[in-house]
Amino acid sequence: MLRSIAMRHDALDRRACDRGRLARDPRFDGRFFTGVLTTRIYCRPTCPVKPARSRNVIFFATAAAAERAGFRPCLRCRPEAAPGTPAWRGAGASVSRALRLIERGFLDDGRGVDDLAEALGMTARHLRRLFLRHAGASPTAVATTRRVQRAKTLIDETALPMSAVAFAAGFTSIRRFNAAFRAVYRRPPSAVRRRRARGQSATGTVAARQMRRAPLSMLSATNAAPPSSTHATAYAAP
Ligand SMILES: [Zn+2]
Repeated sequence: MLRSIAMRHDALDRRACDRGRLARDPRFDGRFFTGVLTTRIYCRPTCPVKPARSRNVIFFATAAAAERAGFRPCLRCRPEAAPGTPAWRGAGASVSRALRLIERGFLDDGRGVDDLAEALGMTARHLRRLFLRHAGASPTAVATTRRVQRAKTLIDETALPMSAVAFAAGFTSIRRFNAAFRAVYRRPPSAVRRRRARGQSATGTVAARQMRRAPLSMLSATNAAPPSSTHATAYAAP
């Protein structure tokens, strides 16, 4: 079942993905995500944690697709900091354009999938179908993932209060922010900040407004080294 979800939007070549993640090849960073079946965590191909066995991994074209299949983001390699949304081979200009619009917050300002489809000159039904095929998730799911990712980056990179994080990330209410964050990370946002505060001091130097619309590649350039103690133990078991 999981395998079929992963393979259906497969512009991904499983063997190439597996070689890429085993080599921690940075050229693959942002092009796919690896779900580890034994831990239910998903990673960038460059994750510093000891790679899981090949038979225990599946690959996703997007972070949203991995989350839809029940995986949570790795706290070591921080999938939210992967370089920007790739234009997937075969995904077509419409999907790539839609992804760029979502990245810029099109679905964060009260507009919906119908508006997005109209902006692209197609029906919402067709847009959803294209997304499922190429991104492995609906436009709404991709937008939610992006909001949670922006929030996670702000939590890691700034000392902003959580309410400011929520709105800067594109959420319309703190309740929605908490619910969406918990659904992805299986813990409240405050727990992620506490964890970081223990490891190293959180320095808030980057303005929230800059962070919100900055491309991911810029965000990742500002990342401090990841904390060393996170969930490495989760990977130790075969
Ligand atoms: Zn990882």
